[in-house]
Amino acid sequence: MRRHLWDVIIVGAGPAGAVLGSLLARAGLSVAQFSRSAPDRDGPIELLLPSTRSLLDGLGFREPGFGIGQCDRVVFSWTGEEADVNELTMIDRQHGLAVNRSSFHQALQIEAERSGVQNFTATISKRKLLSPSTSRSGPEILLDGEKHSGNWMIDATGRGHSTSYITRSKRITFSQNIALALPIQATSHAEALLIDAVEDGWWYLSPATGKRRDLVFVTDKQTLRSLNCKRSDWLSAQLRKSETICDILDTDPDWNSVYGVDARFAALENPINLRTVAVGDAALALDPLSGQGSLLAIKSAAILFHSILNTEKGLKSYESWIQQAHKQEFQLCLDTYRKASHRFPNSGFWKRHI
Ligand SMILES: Cc1cc2nc3c(=O)[nH]c(=O)nc-3n(C[C@H](O)[C@H](O)[C@H](O)COP(=O)(O)OP(=O)(O)OC[C@H]3O[C@@H](n4cnc5c(N)ncnc54)[C@H](O)[C@@H]3O)c2cc1C
Repeated sequence: MRRHLWDVIIVGAGPAGAVLGSLLARAGLSVAQFSRSAPDRDGPIELLLPSTRSLLDGLGFREPGFGIGQCDRVVFSWTGEEADVNELTMIDRQHGLAVNRSSFHQALQIEAERSGVQNFTATISKRKLLSPSTSRSGPEILLDGEKHSGNWMIDATGRGHSTSYITRSKRITFSQNIALALPIQATSHAEALLIDAVEDGWWYLSPATGKRRDLVFVTDKQTLRSLNCKRSDWLSAQLRKSETICDILDTDPDWNSVYGVDARFAALENPINLRTVAVGDAALALDPLSGQGSLLAIKSAAILFHSILNTEKGLKSYESWIQQAHKQEFQLCLDTYRKASHRFPNSGFWKRHI
């Protein structure tokens, strides 16, 4: 069997994996990246905060394919206007960009390959992962009859459930949320991103990608369980409570096409194992609809990069950064929810979230 020896193996090529891979490869390490292929269809929108853009810039990513005016990947930009966010102030809109999420990820992957990362398209399952992270020989991946061994194994699989078997660490769930998503046709108000808290959760209307946009309602399973009417009736009643969202809908949505998405608030317990490390959302996932995601993912990649270069024994600086980031993000969520719970003092949903 052919055997490949790498300094670093990274599973997942979202912002965290792609940025980490680029930095390591630029520093002269051999890096193999395994990631499943990106979906072809239009993905959701991603808001790049000004700080995300300047961080990428500082790390040498020059927004190759997604700069304003260069191609159609930028859906819209904004400069300093007030955000259309009622109570849930999640985004800073100054000089930000709304980009197509999969195009953004692709642009970062291209940059990683340019830096020397060897990319393999594959979904890494338990079956393909040969030895546990604790084994002396280190973790190995078996792909097409060839064995890949890494001195380091990085889990950059985002919110996927791969983490538990790659890093052997457990996820803790703070509370189980569910997002009810409804694809709708874009209207003339296609540029708006709206978030609005109501009594039993919050509405999220993504800006349009192509002709599609998603109308999403985030609530929790307990609220759904206590319903004593049809889910579609309840949802349309919830919608009527959000004037902000109702105002811009041209037609009544088709409630029969609602699908549920698991939107758990999760964090990793003991994310660090020696040489087998989670990065980005795999280590940090907290809030399913937070606009802070890529910034933290990229920051964690930059910090892990320095830790890998500077340490042969442990990852203390990375570990303490992760713990700090968890604490801050969790506090931010709590503060946000507290605001909404003051607005809806009788709401069980908001009480459960503080
Ligand atoms: C719908 C949606 C909208 C969002 N909007 C915003 C936003 O507006 N602004 C913002 O800052 N953040 C946003 N986020 C969050 C942000 O996208 C994430 O925080 C960020 O992408 C995390 O980066 P990551 O590299 O850690 O993980 P991801 O971007 O999730 O990348 C993980 C990668 O690993 C791959 N993968 C997973 N499992 C496997 C496996 N077993 N084998 C191989 N490959 C695997 C996936 O295909 C993916 O390419 C949004 C997230 C979602 C889901």
